[in-house]
Amino acid sequence: MTASPSPNGQAEKRSRILIIGATGFIGHFIAQASLASGKSTYILSRAAASCPSKARAIKALEDQGAISIHWEEQEMLEKGEDSERRQKIKGSVNDQEFMEKTLKEHEIDIVISAVGGGNLLEQVILIRAMKAVGTIKRFLPSEFGHDVDRAEPVEPGLTMYNEKRRVRRLIEESGIPYTYICCNSIASWPYYDNTHPSEVLPPLDQFQIYGDGSVKAYFVAGADIGKFTVKAAEDVRTLNKIVHFRPSCNFLNINELATLWEKKIGRTLPRVVVSEDDLLAAAEENIFPQSVVASFTHDIFIKGCQVNFPVDGPNEIEVSSLYPDEPFQTMDECFNEFAGKIEEDKKRVVGTKGENIAHRLVDVLTAPKL
Ligand code: NDP
Repeated sequence: MTASPSPNGQAEKRSRILIIGATGFIGHFIAQASLASGKSTYILSRAAASCPSKARAIKALEDQGAISIHWEEQEMLEKGEDSERRQKIKGSVNDQEFMEKTLKEHEIDIVISAVGGGNLLEQVILIRAMKAVGTIKRFLPSEFGHDVDRAEPVEPGLTMYNEKRRVRRLIEESGIPYTYICCNSIASWPYYDNTHPSEVLPPLDQFQIYGDGSVKAYFVAGADIGKFTVKAAEDVRTLNKIVHFRPSCNFLNINELATLWEKKIGRTLPRVVVSEDDLLAAAEENIFPQSVVASFTHDIFIKGCQVNFPVDGPNEIEVSSLYPDEPFQTMDECFNEFAGKIEEDKKRVVGTKGENIAHRLVDVLTAPKL
């Protein structure tokens, strides 16, 4: 960075941040955090025309001040692109010409990519564009999980890690300044077959406990993933470093997580063991994305991939040591939010006599308490 560091490590100059994947699960948290912190926030919007819910998400971000970027229809027509290709490349990182134009015209300083697991290698073209432009002060590739150079999940998770590793090596070879965010698990019940577990309530019928349930992991609320990612992106102390998220308040094993949730719903639930072999069998089925999640679940809750190493290398840093005064949302608070959602559903269903699933929630919540 050319700007000099302030006492808290943040650059003095107001950076222009481009977020790729702002309509996605992790990217949305990052975009929200960037806007909340008053940054000049740019987002790629390629899917607005084809997907109403994504169009709404983009509109909501624009209403908060985000600037969305995509090829204009006329520009693509002038380039002679047919309609299929126009849809495909509209605002896609997969288009080097578009990316170079975007980075130059908007004088982007920082690029944060949160493309999904199926699109990781599309970042190769983005890296070429950043290298060609030569002005990017920091790139945060789509990581947002474990340290992929350390962890060794079984397949098919390993293939995804190999892709993330390939992206890391290309960034390093290209000389683009980078930060890798290893935020560990998103705060939620860690279902072994669900890519976005924090969109799903914790169990109300039974807990599935992985192995003996004693292996610990770190859980981080989506909003905190966004907040600390944006802070780290501008921080001179994180230049060319891996940033690990290890909030001590959210260091829990799955038995502890189950007990915490039981306190919120006021009753105990049966615990069913999902063994190491069960998880390996689910991974071996090779169904995307569930088997990928099963292989990560095995790596986290059986092998202990989040905790089996110290953060003490010269090129890595723990996020709490960077921002000791910034609190993390606790799992207790996250579970309060989930319990609040159940209460809302309950009220809605009692009012409308709605769907079966919601009736089931009412049954659970109105069952005799402990
Ligand atoms: P999603 O699938 O939810 O979202 C992906 C986003 O990337 C979408 O906005 C999509 O745009 C955009 N995108 C994909 N390809 C392109 C492209 N070629 N050009 C422009 N935009 C593109 O991804 P996730 O949020 O699930 O995953 C993001 C990262 O976070 C991954 O690295 C994943 O491994 C990690 N992750 C970590 C979790 C954790 O618990 N720690 C949980 C989940 C994910 P569009 O709307 O146009 O399709």
